[in-house]
Amino acid sequence: MTTVLQPTAPILDSTPDSLIFVGERLWLDFVNSADALRARRPGRNDVLDSFDGFIGWLSAARVLDAERSAAMVRRAQQQPTAASAAVHEARRIRNVLRALAEKGTDETDRATQLAIGEINRILGRSAGTRRVESRADGGFVRNFVTVGDVFAGLLIPVIESAADALVSGELFRVRQCADARCARVFYDASRNGKRRWCEMATCGNRAKAARHRRKIKRV
Ligand SMILES: [Zn+2]
Repeated sequence: MTTVLQPTAPILDSTPDSLIFVGERLWLDFVNSADALRARRPGRNDVLDSFDGFIGWLSAARVLDAERSAAMVRRAQQQPTAASAAVHEARRIRNVLRALAEKGTDETDRATQLAIGEINRILGRSAGTRRVESRADGGFVRNFVTVGDVFAGLLIPVIESAADALVSGELFRVRQCADARCARVFYDASRNGKRRWCEMATCGNRAKAARHRRKIKRV
């Protein structure tokens, strides 16, 4: 059975091009959603500052397809309290995941224990089915369709990505950008394990320019 959904208002300006995905892992990109806008604005860079922003990010991250995103935005208009609770929870979970990303290599660490608790709570309370569905551009997307609370499953793919990081023991390769002003985190997939910057185009180049300026001063 296919439900035909009418498109709703455009979902924010969070198109894939306007958002930065440099984490190499979905859960790390989710952590970075606090500062994911390519054109940084003073003060307001958090895509989770509204439910629409949350859905826009999930859509840009290809967790939700356009049809399901539109359905979620429409449901949020019908159930604003539940929607604002969902985005509130998303921000809280993001804090927990950030703590895991920043100091999660020790399994006895409090941040890790807290993250495991939250991961299990979300995995445990949500029921639904997985589906592979075709996208309008001819590709495919894997969707998780929840039963029960309509917003309960939104964080599942993010949480599963964090669970994968724990299970596969790859937290030791999770790093924070070497620029002290940048809080972005990423999985270092480089062969030599020496990736330092969230992006060469921004933080990497800033560091390069600063090094260059210091060099000129010394000459
Ligand atoms: Zn950076």
